[in-house]
Amino acid sequence: MTNRLASCSCGQLTAQVDGDPVRVSICHCLACQRRTGSVFGQQARFHREHVSLSGESCEYVRVGDEGSHVTFHFCPRCGSTVCYELEGLETYLAIPVGAFADPDFPPPSVSVYEERMHSWVVPPADAQHYP
Ligand SMILES: [Zn+2]
Ligand SMILES: [Zn+2]
Repeated sequence: MTNRLASCSCGQLTAQVDGDPVRVSICHCLACQRRTGSVFGQQARFHREHVSLSGESCEYVRVGDEGSHVTFHFCPRCGSTVCYELEGLETYLAIPVGAFADPDFPPPSVSVYEERMHSWVVPPADAQHYP
């Protein structure tokens, strides 16, 4: 089984995950652009029991367009988000794919908020696309 380690920039906060993600998606929404500092967010969803968190974290709760809450866990020293929880999907944890710093990580199969997508971005053709 594949083991992967996600880490914040300074290495203090980590998430060890067992096995492959159940879902990998990219999100082009403006809130994800602000959160990441990039033009889209990419996240991998894992069953919670396959994730081991280590280190200190702070929380930030974002309220989505439909009123749902997303709780981000980030490093108090360097500010990188290493995992987050989606309300209604409590059996899972999402890990920002960049935190794995692994160019061989599985590509996204889902692309959401494409109406906010930067014009030069080209999601994988075989992904599911949502406006
Ligand atoms: Zn850190
Ligand atoms: Zn988003």
